[in-house]
Amino acid sequence: MNDLANSPGKTPEQRPPRQRKPDWIRVRAPVSEGYQETRRMMRELNLNTVCEEAACPNIGECWSKKHATVMILGDVCTRACAFCNVKTGMPRAVDPMEPEHTAIAAAKMGLEHIVITSVDRDDLPDGGAGQFVKVIEALRRSTPDTTIEILTPDFRGKMRAAVEAICEAGPDVYNHNLETVPRLYPTIRPGARYYASLRLLEEVKSHDPMIFTKSGIMLGLGEERLEVHQVMDDMRSADIDFITMGQYLQPTPKHAAVEDFVTPKAFNAYGSIARAKGFLQVASTPLTRSSYHAGEDFAQMKAARAEKFAKQTARKADQLKI
Ligand code: SF4
Repeated sequence: MNDLANSPGKTPEQRPPRQRKPDWIRVRAPVSEGYQETRRMMRELNLNTVCEEAACPNIGECWSKKHATVMILGDVCTRACAFCNVKTGMPRAVDPMEPEHTAIAAAKMGLEHIVITSVDRDDLPDGGAGQFVKVIEALRRSTPDTTIEILTPDFRGKMRAAVEAICEAGPDVYNHNLETVPRLYPTIRPGARYYASLRLLEEVKSHDPMIFTKSGIMLGLGEERLEVHQVMDDMRSADIDFITMGQYLQPTPKHAAVEDFVTPKAFNAYGSIARAKGFLQVASTPLTRSSYHAGEDFAQMKAARAEKFAKQTARKADQLKI
């Protein structure tokens, strides 16, 4: 492993050269009419999307189907993670129209399932939890049949109150990404703590066990295989239902370098191990992102839980007969 690879603070000469993307990473250019329509609507409603801000490779596919992940609380983040393309700095005031505009976008796109994420807002007293609540409430009012998945920051220092408020609003899926293995936190996610993120997801389950929990990691940052297995075990200990694993891609030369392009076969192997460890749902491919195919995955996860509950009930009934 190259010690310099994950050191975004190094000079350009010290950084390893960017690796060429393998064929399995190449994606279609975003040119469809659906893509253009989604883009127009987001601009008209003054909404940000993580699809654009994070330079997501799936934007052509997702937006052609009008699946976009709305990024609330502005487009400036108070953290500076080494993997993330979102701007860092002092964010602007929260847009009071954002909840209504998000609800309008969901209605116009006719979404069955929506994913809402945000930048980190360490500057706000509630970390931005109140805006998540308002967005969920606005969506429930305007499109009550749309299922809601939220992907939140770690709400450092205010986690318990933030999680409680958001869980009370009743999202269907609560996602918070661990992003990488704990050994790489000091360089990749320096403003966060691995165990605090795990605790947040545990807190969601203890608040409302019916909310599905979801978390993801990026591969290709220099993590070892056994470290990934350990993350899976940690997630299962926190009763996380759904794991996502995707290839890390370096957004610009200033960001952490790609250590490895993990092969599709290796992603499959990780996926099989995750299933064996008991996750209800697993997404593990090079192009997997937290919100990629989120609606389809949600439907499958719901079905898997219903089946699990039915089996548990049948087992209990059998035991009572004995
Ligand atoms: S995978 Fe998620 S972030 Fe990427 S384009 Fe699709 S919806 Fe947007």
